[in-house]
Amino acid sequence: MHSINYGTKELFFDLKQSKRKSLSIEVYPDNSIRVLAPLASSMEEIKKVILKKSRWIIRQQHYFEQFLPKTPEREYVSGETHYYLGRGYLLKIRPGQKNVIKLKGGCFHVEYCGYDAQKITKNLMAKWYYEHSEKKFFTIANEMFLKFKEFELDKPNIDIKRMAKRWGSCQKNGKIIINPEIIKAPTKCIEYVITHEMCHLVQFSHDKKFYTLLSEKMPNWEKWKNRLEQTLS
Ligand SMILES: [Zn+2]
Repeated sequence: MHSINYGTKELFFDLKQSKRKSLSIEVYPDNSIRVLAPLASSMEEIKKVILKKSRWIIRQQHYFEQFLPKTPEREYVSGETHYYLGRGYLLKIRPGQKNVIKLKGGCFHVEYCGYDAQKITKNLMAKWYYEHSEKKFFTIANEMFLKFKEFELDKPNIDIKRMAKRWGSCQKNGKIIINPEIIKAPTKCIEYVITHEMCHLVQFSHDKKFYTLLSEKMPNWEKWKNRLEQTLS
């Protein structure tokens, strides 16, 4: 991790140098910054370019902040609310014999064994969300895929990955990528994202045919799209 000072701000960035011609800067929804640079660039040159682009970087970060959960500064302490499938659950943390997390009776119960309760809780929760996203997204994808029988499509591979600005995406090779963040929204919102991406298997661009197909597969999709934006903003 590297950093650069811009005014009173310190911008942290990940750097990856590879065989490429130009430098590119990416800002992710969690506000992390990733810089891709040619092998030959020196740190000084890289920092100069970043400095030039810092206004843009900060603008991107502000843009993404509106999509972060309502309480972006998660501390992973007892009493916090964390979301799953559209419902808020209270976090309860206590010391124990091992590191374990359970969702039970309206609460996330975390038992930790070690010194850093917050760090352990954060890791346990991240793993929990990931595993549940995987299970939930695959189940929903299987259900939604049945609606596309008539097209005799190959079953798409579903990948879970954090993405800038997007809840889902569909690649030309038929792979569907889903942002794990949507596991915090109601099931219907997840169905909307997956149905939307599956429509791209038939109709690649967002044209009239695409929206006709989407409305056919999920007549009230706009309601769930709005709900998704509200939940995760
Ligand atoms: Zn789309």
